[in-house]
Amino acid sequence: GRNNHQFYTARMNEAAGERLQMENELRQAVSGITPGHCEFSLHFQPQIQTATGKVIGLEALLRWDNPTFGRVSPMRFIAIAEETGLILPLGDWVIWETCRLTRSLKDQGLGDVRVAINISAQQLRHDNLLLLIRGALACYDLSPQDIELEVTESTAMQNPEVTLSILDQLAAMGIMLAIDDFGTGYSSLAYLKHLPINRLKLDRSFVTDIETDANDAAICTATIALGHSLGLELVAEGVETEEQRDFLARLGCDVLQGYLYSKPMPFADVVAYLQAQRIA
Ligand code: C2E
Ligand code: CA
Ligand code: CA
Ligand code: CA
Repeated sequence: GRNNHQFYTARMNEAAGERLQMENELRQAVSGITPGHCEFSLHFQPQIQTATGKVIGLEALLRWDNPTFGRVSPMRFIAIAEETGLILPLGDWVIWETCRLTRSLKDQGLGDVRVAINISAQQLRHDNLLLLIRGALACYDLSPQDIELEVTESTAMQNPEVTLSILDQLAAMGIMLAIDDFGTGYSSLAYLKHLPINRLKLDRSFVTDIETDANDAAICTATIALGHSLGLELVAEGVETEEQRDFLARLGCDVLQGYLYSKPMPFADVVAYLQAQRIA
């Protein structure tokens, strides 16, 4: 009815208003409006080698704490950053900050983990990515093997020729490459075979019900077998229970990541976590 229509319009305007306000806040945060205060930080989630239980990597995950909106979910603000192009300066910051903190880990004797950085489609296609990464690695005296880039399956599938050429150049530098959210897109296997990638990250949506949903179990089994036959390492995301861990271990999944081991944590906590792992 008429009133309902008005109600929904008002609600939609409210949502649009909030979206616009969030975009403004994000723009200000990216441009560093308050000197000496950064609203962004990185959290890190450990990646565990299935066979040994050792921490072999960390994934850097961006956090935004805004005075108006509080802690905003990356799903939400990264979508806005991508729509507005703010992902380019923000993504540059993520690369620099990850390299800075990776250097700090090395200086503390905790440098035997590789740190993974999420790269969005726009960043991957922007022609300064290689220079930027080279510069950040050189600045913090890191080697290309110290980091890894995660590109989602859907990003990798856009513009296949451009993607292939960029990934080839990154791989030639010696940088490890992972396909993120694997299984959620529609990769052609023929195409995948040509990408210079090292790892597939099995999407969390297949892991959650792996023990109870026969389809999910079949997808995980087939993906792990396929990946291995292409010479790739398999990483499972979103491992929350021991049962999921055991199931994935039986399938031969190489690396596990999820709340079972640890939630993403602030840098200071990750230092303590890695120190505790070394003693254990
Ligand atoms: P993603 O790359 O697939 O990252 C995994 C997400 O799953 C993270 O959410 C992580 O906190 C969450 N997660 C990890 N283990 C578990 C688990 O056991 N259970 C559950 N329920 N969740 C788990 P987060 O940190 O909220 O990030 C969401 C997405 O935002 C990421 O998905 C990634 O696509 C994007 N993102 C985060 N940081 C960055 C960044 O620096 N750059 C770009 N381009 N995207 C980022
Ligand atoms: Ca990721
Ligand atoms: Ca995912
Ligand atoms: Ca994702």
